[in-house]
Amino acid sequence: MNLQQQALSELQQRIDSAMNVAGRTDSITTVVVTKTHGADMVQNLYDLGIRDFGENRDQEAKPKSEAFQPLEIDYRWHFIGQLQSNKVKSMLSYSSALHSLDRSSLLSELTKRVERELEVFIQLNLTDDPNRGGINPGDLVEFGENVVTNPLLKLMGVMAVAGLDQDPRSEFEKVAKLSQKLQEIAPGATFISTGMSGDFEEAIEFGATHLRIGSLITGNRNSIT
Ligand SMILES: *Cc1c(COP(=O)(O)O)cnc(C)c1O
Repeated sequence: MNLQQQALSELQQRIDSAMNVAGRTDSITTVVVTKTHGADMVQNLYDLGIRDFGENRDQEAKPKSEAFQPLEIDYRWHFIGQLQSNKVKSMLSYSSALHSLDRSSLLSELTKRVERELEVFIQLNLTDDPNRGGINPGDLVEFGENVVTNPLLKLMGVMAVAGLDQDPRSEFEKVAKLSQKLQEIAPGATFISTGMSGDFEEAIEFGATHLRIGSLITGNRNSIT
């Protein structure tokens, strides 16, 4: 059994038990984040049954997506990092989902360039600093209304990264409330992308539907690039 196989099975057990504790029977998507690892890692994970892969830099993801070419197109790339507007076209060439729609200028660029359906999550700014990346809670509804005017952008819901020095529970609770608010104008936007290696159990408790798990599965960053 290789390291990833072991780690995936341990992760699945922890997810199942967190779902049980939360009394949840809905399904959850685990996006395995392969950043800093090569296409060989993606292939290894694919052979172990993983079909959702996450990347946070286009410069790295684009060549990796080209190097990884299994026979069947039954897998998806999720773009999860901050994206420069001039990389939108490239990102669209391989991504099925964008978890980090975090500003109006990015939305404009997407609207200009999108040619087939893209799933999008609105990234929230949970800090008290309105100048940090992400949509401020007070602007979420208006921003969501702008997203849904484009039929090719499928608004999935909200995404957030819990602050390092914050209690993840209180942050995920905020996210859950904002998700409800967004659903008032976009009833289909029921999904929540929260939870990383260090806080996915808390995220599940507060309704996460898409986990983005890297180091717990792939080992330390940069160890196998
Ligand atoms: C790297 C990354 C993750 C995964 O982080 P781990 O702590 O390695 O699980 C999740 N989300 C985003 C946005 C990331 O950049």
